[in-house]
Amino acid sequence: MKNSILIVFSILIATITLAYSLYTVSWSDFPLSAEKIQKITGIPVSDELIKVYTCSSTAEFTEISGSPYWVLASYKEKRIYLQPASLIPNITRTISHELSHSYFKQFKFPYWIEEGLVCIITGEWRGKSLDKLDKIEQVEISDLDFYTYNNYSYTCWIEVSKIINENGFDFLLKKYGVK
Ligand SMILES: [Zn+2]
Repeated sequence: MKNSILIVFSILIATITLAYSLYTVSWSDFPLSAEKIQKITGIPVSDELIKVYTCSSTAEFTEISGSPYWVLASYKEKRIYLQPASLIPNITRTISHELSHSYFKQFKFPYWIEEGLVCIITGEWRGKSLDKLDKIEQVEISDLDFYTYNNYSYTCWIEVSKIINENGFDFLLKKYGVK
């Protein structure tokens, strides 16, 4: 009896921990974003494969990604982690967003610059108007929540767009990045 309970429990744990679905993506799946990146930076994207983990629950997402529960997706070490598909309004754009993070990591920008560049590629804030955060370069991401993260991301997009439009990507790279 004890053994069968143990087996049932083990199967349950295995089901919970292995419930995500896994596939790979590359820039060839997002040709328009790849083109936009090359136009802005002058540096082409690589053809490496990135693993996409679509989690079956928010609990699983926080466990395997290490991200807070209110984040829709995250990128870490050639892996994209997604919340359950039903929670993500635009999966294609979300994957393109995370793939863009994977590309911009090479320049080791402060996170607000990286987020701003990513949002320029996805165009996700175009036509929207949110409250901006003050002193964006000093904001700690760990202090944010689902609502303020949107203001954060929006502000990054506004500020980085301004720098890119006025001075170009090379200026941004020299001032904030490492190449
Ligand atoms: Zn982002």
